[in-house]
Amino acid sequence: MKKWKITSLYYGALTIPKGFATPGVDTDLVFESPYIGYLLQNGEENILVDTGIRDDFIVDGKAYAGFPGKGGKQYVIDALAKEGLKPSDIDKVFYTHLHNDHAGNALMFKDIPTYFQKDEYSNLLNQIPSQKIRRDYDKRTPDDMQQLSSVFMINGNFKMTNGLEIYKTPGHSLGSMIIVVPTEKGRYVITGDMPHICVYMFPMMDEYQLIDGSFVKITPMPQYLPFFCSGQIYDHWAAFDSFYLIKSMAEEFKPEYMLTGHDPWVIFRHNFG
Ligand SMILES: [Zn+2]
Repeated sequence: MKKWKITSLYYGALTIPKGFATPGVDTDLVFESPYIGYLLQNGEENILVDTGIRDDFIVDGKAYAGFPGKGGKQYVIDALAKEGLKPSDIDKVFYTHLHNDHAGNALMFKDIPTYFQKDEYSNLLNQIPSQKIRRDYDKRTPDDMQQLSSVFMINGNFKMTNGLEIYKTPGHSLGSMIIVVPTEKGRYVITGDMPHICVYMFPMMDEYQLIDGSFVKITPMPQYLPFFCSGQIYDHWAAFDSFYLIKSMAEEFKPEYMLTGHDPWVIFRHNFG
């Protein structure tokens, strides 16, 4: 079976204090947290994971929870162009989940096979109040999903003949899923927002790489071992099961094998596998 190559795609960013993700810790550390898509290529297929945020979801320069944001359709076009591709070169789309900053540009890819979890669609249609207040989901996404011509609404885990593996990992949303990608350098896990950034799975980290490649000191959180949950985790019981599953799926339990939805170093390092 052909091995995969993974490329991170920069879809814009939210400028956010680390303390928003890690309450009470590193509240002064403000950094650019990218909206990340992934391109998976095996020489036969171009698969896109997530489609970023819609332009007009960012109002007056503010996105999720009122933090400064930038992104939109042009970012997706530019990120693909950087890899020598047009949107029409994409063969399949996977959604780690359907939040505003992951499924915003679904209509750019409406005529190709699209994979997401049934429980995620259910969450999209039946949100809890905190998800509504924070606008986790773009209110146009249910209609966007209806317009897709070839939906594969997966219920649970799924191995594809091309070697990719999908696992349902609830916690951040009801139907989040990870994609396990076999490469020459081992098995990488594309986590979506479960977790958003790798410190959730590695609370003892004491330095963190930013989008320009520089490192900053961060505060270890020993009280949270083995994993920690922030306000972006809605179901802690499910999240722990998901974290342990993710831990067992990666080549090694190290941050470099966890390709999250918002870690700046993923954009800096760019190519995996
Ligand atoms: Zn999310």
